[in-house]
Amino acid sequence: MSFIYLFYSWKFMPAYPVRRAVVVGASFGGLSAAIALKRYRPELDVTVVDARNPPIPHTTGGFGYHWFEKLPWELLIPEEAIAARIRGVRIVSPSGHEAVFRFEGEVGAVLHPDIWAERMLALAGRYGCNLLLGRRVTGLVQEGPVYAGVKVDGDVLRCDVIVAADGANSLIGRMVGRPDIDPMDLHVGFERTVPLPPQGGWDHSLIHLYFGRNVAPLGYLWLFPSHDGGVRTVRLGCGVPRGLNRNPREYLERWVSRHPEFQELWSKPLKEMGGLIPTAPLPKSNVHRNILFVGDAARVCSPLHGGGLGFAVQSGFLAAESIVSGNLGSYDRRLERVLGPLLRRHYLLKQVLYGWGDGELDRMVRAMGEFRMSPRLPIDPNREIMRFVFFLARREPGLIPKMVLTRLRA
Ligand SMILES: Cc1cc2nc3c(=O)[nH]c(=O)nc-3n(C[C@H](O)[C@H](O)[C@H](O)COP(=O)(O)OP(=O)(O)OC[C@H]3O[C@@H](n4cnc5c(N)ncnc54)[C@H](O)[C@@H]3O)c2cc1C
Repeated sequence: MSFIYLFYSWKFMPAYPVRRAVVVGASFGGLSAAIALKRYRPELDVTVVDARNPPIPHTTGGFGYHWFEKLPWELLIPEEAIAARIRGVRIVSPSGHEAVFRFEGEVGAVLHPDIWAERMLALAGRYGCNLLLGRRVTGLVQEGPVYAGVKVDGDVLRCDVIVAADGANSLIGRMVGRPDIDPMDLHVGFERTVPLPPQGGWDHSLIHLYFGRNVAPLGYLWLFPSHDGGVRTVRLGCGVPRGLNRNPREYLERWVSRHPEFQELWSKPLKEMGGLIPTAPLPKSNVHRNILFVGDAARVCSPLHGGGLGFAVQSGFLAAESIVSGNLGSYDRRLERVLGPLLRRHYLLKQVLYGWGDGELDRMVRAMGEFRMSPRLPIDPNREIMRFVFFLARREPGLIPKMVLTRLRA
């Protein structure tokens, strides 16, 4: 056991007193951490810095209602932030087979992420956080074994602890030498919002997911329903691993060329956005000295479907709990206990999907057509996914060897 390890065990295992905290990133992860810090310790001096003003998150905004059971009441999504209500999902295989899961009630929502983030920002302000928007963190100030602050456009902001919530491409992570995410575990997403085609045929209460090597290799293409300015709209997007060096926009254009009802709408989008989506395993540690990584910077985002909003919020709260407990190192244990098993399962399932060709994806979607989801609401998608995996193994035993092989390789 090295001297350094002993030193940090001594330094951080007992109470690590925090008076000032800086949160880098005012999106869902950073704002949750800031709000939670002030909620637990109103006397703490908490400053949130974001390079953008306003910091509008780049996200489609799909959000399952099962997260509501885990979120603190203040963060419940306001009515105005709901762009569409979701009652099910339609999945389309490479050769066009479809499986539709439709529920009796709502199972989730597509959000206006800007409205939700604006509400969270206002809440952070009400709790007494200092908000520094439109200011970029450019460096860290190291004093002895810890970081004593961050550099913000040349100024120094001193603090005892830093919450790095600066996204998948975390500058703080790079500055402290965290290894880059494997490019096959980092998806690039691109999306346009267009009006719903007047021709009809699109069920606006479902999310539509398309799979296939020519549709979205090692990823998927999505259509999420939405409403923008009173108009029924669709968020049409695609995500593929960065390591493939392919542009998701080209896959979308190819898909649109096969769906004439979208062709004119695609060229006149109402909105456009894109970004990186970590689909990586949970790192061994998300604590570096007195820096705690949350949200996408911590790689807590579902490797299976790329949903990271709920994970970002939850990791923000876990980081705050660890800080006020005086034991920064306990953050890793909290993350592992609350999110570790789920993230590992999603990573494994992603690897299985990656290992399959179009033929196997077709078989999977055909099997979905016969699978009965639990009618109980709110639906727990993680439970249903595991039920489906066991169903698939019984229905398509030929797929088991490849699943086992992937398990062994992982
Ligand atoms: C195309 C796309 C679609 C997605 N769709 C969904 C979905 O439907 N459902 C879902 O749950 N998740 C989705 N996600 C994932 C989700 O958006 C993220 O998991 C979530 O936004 C992570 O929040 P965060 O707070 O960790 O980081 P981010 O939202 O990435 O925010 C990081 C913040 O840090 C700021 N920042 C960065 N560097 C600096 C710096 N040096 N100084 C100051 N500020 C800095 C940025 O300006 C930004 O505001 C999607 C992501 C993408 C890219």
